[in-house]
Amino acid sequence: MSSGTAVALTKSQSDELNPFMAMSKRFDAAADHLGLDEGLREVLRTPDREVTVAIPITMDSGKLKVFIGYRVQHNFSRGPCKGGIRFAPDVNLDEVRALAAWMTWKCSVVDLPFGGGKGGVICDPRTMSMGELERMTRRYTAAIMDVIGPDRDVPAPDVNTNEQTMAWIMDTYSMHVRATSTAIVTGKPLALGGSKGRTEATGRGVMIAVREALKKLGLNVANPRVVVQGSGNVGGIGARLLQQQGFKIVSLSDIDTAIYKADGLNVVDVLDFIKKNKTLRGYPNVQHITREEQLLLDCEILVPAATENQITSANADKIKAKLIVEGANGPTTAAADAILESKGVLVVPDILANAGGVTVSYFEWVQDRAAYFWSEAEVNQKLETVMVHSFAEVDETAKKFKCSLRIGAYILAIDRVANTYRLRGTYA
Ligand code: NAD
Repeated sequence: MSSGTAVALTKSQSDELNPFMAMSKRFDAAADHLGLDEGLREVLRTPDREVTVAIPITMDSGKLKVFIGYRVQHNFSRGPCKGGIRFAPDVNLDEVRALAAWMTWKCSVVDLPFGGGKGGVICDPRTMSMGELERMTRRYTAAIMDVIGPDRDVPAPDVNTNEQTMAWIMDTYSMHVRATSTAIVTGKPLALGGSKGRTEATGRGVMIAVREALKKLGLNVANPRVVVQGSGNVGGIGARLLQQQGFKIVSLSDIDTAIYKADGLNVVDVLDFIKKNKTLRGYPNVQHITREEQLLLDCEILVPAATENQITSANADKIKAKLIVEGANGPTTAAADAILESKGVLVVPDILANAGGVTVSYFEWVQDRAAYFWSEAEVNQKLETVMVHSFAEVDETAKKFKCSLRIGAYILAIDRVANTYRLRGTYA
C-alpha cells in the first residue's frame, strides 16, 4: 500500500496483504505437514541474496533521476536462480522477496533444475519513453552484473517488461562479458535465441491447468463461463487459448476497467483494441463494470491473471466461481484461501497454474546452451507433458496429506528443495 492510501489498514489487514507473509504462511503449513526441523525451515525461508541498486538515468528532459532496483535470489540449491523482472511504481523489497521465493517453489513443483529469483525496478513505465526505458534497463543490468549469469541467475519478463527488455539485458550483459551470451535471459526475441512458444507458454499452461482441474472437479458444463482478470501476456493469451478450446470468456479487464458480455467476448478483437489504444477503456458494445465487480461475476471459472492480493478476506465469500486458476503470482491471500476452501471452491495455485512460463524458459535456456532449436510443436508437446504430470503429482500429494492443492504444491516443492539441501549439506 502506498503512503497516500486514504483508508488506514489494521495490522492484520496489512499482514494479510504482505506477499512475503502470505508466502510464509503457506510455507509453514507445508513444512508442518513435512515435519521439517526448525533449522532447515530457517534456511529455506531466508533469501540467499538480496541486492538493492541505484539506477541513475538521464531523462529525455535532460534531468538526472535515480530509480531503485532490486534482485533477490531466494534459493540456488537446485540450480541457477530463475525469475522475472518487473517495472512498476509499487515494486518493493517484500514483494520481490515473496516473488523470488514463489519462483523457488514453482521451479521445484515442475521439477526444473533452477532455484528462484526475482527483480524489480520502482518506476512508472507508462510515463517513460522507449529511450528512458532502454537506459534504465541497461543501467540496471550493469548494476546487477555480478550476480546474474547463465549459471547464476537468469532473468525473464514479468509485469511491464517484455522481449525488448530482455534483448537490452542480453546485449548489455554480452557487451560486458565480451561474448554473445544468449542464455543470460529467457523470453528473448526469436532472432536472439528465444524459444518458439515462449510468449504463449504461461497462458498455454493456464489453459492446460483449467482443463486438468475441470477433469478433477468433474464439472460437466457446456462452454463454461470464464472471467479473466488482466489482459496481458498471461490473461490475454490465456483467454485467447481458452476461447479456442470452446470456453466462453464473459469478462476481461485491465488496470483501467473491466468489461462483461454474457454471451461471450471476441477475445482477439478485445486484445487488438488494447494493442491499438493502450487501454480497455472505451471498448464498444459491452457492459463496463468496475474491477471489483468483475471478480464477483457469475461464472464457472475465474482466472486472476493481473497482480497480487485480488482475492482477499474482503471479497472471497462473495466469489461465485467454482474453480479459480491463478495465472498471476499471489492473487489470493492466505485468509481468502480458508474462506474459499470452506465454500468448496477449487483453487489451482499460482506455483502450478502459471508454471508454463518458467517451464518454456527452461526449454529456452537448454536450447541456447545447446545452440540447437526446437520446433513450436515440440516445445508445446514438452510443456503439455510437464504441466499434466505436475498437476497429477500435486493432486496426489494433496490427497496423501489431505490438504488443498496449494498446500500440496508447496509440500511437493519444499520437499524437493529440502532434499537437495540435505544432500549438498551446509558448507561452512
Ligand atoms: P502484463 O504486464 O503483460 O499484463 C498485466 C495485465 O494486468 C495488464 O492487462 C494490466 O493492465 C492488468 N492489471 C494490472 N493491475 C491490474 C489490476 N489491479 N486489476 C486488473 N488488471 C490489472 O503482465 P503478465 O506477464 O501478464 O503478468 C501478470 C501476472 O502473471 C503477474 O502476477 C506475473 O507475475 C504473473 N506471471 C507472469 C508470467 C509470464 O510469463 N509473463 C509467468 C508467471 C506468472
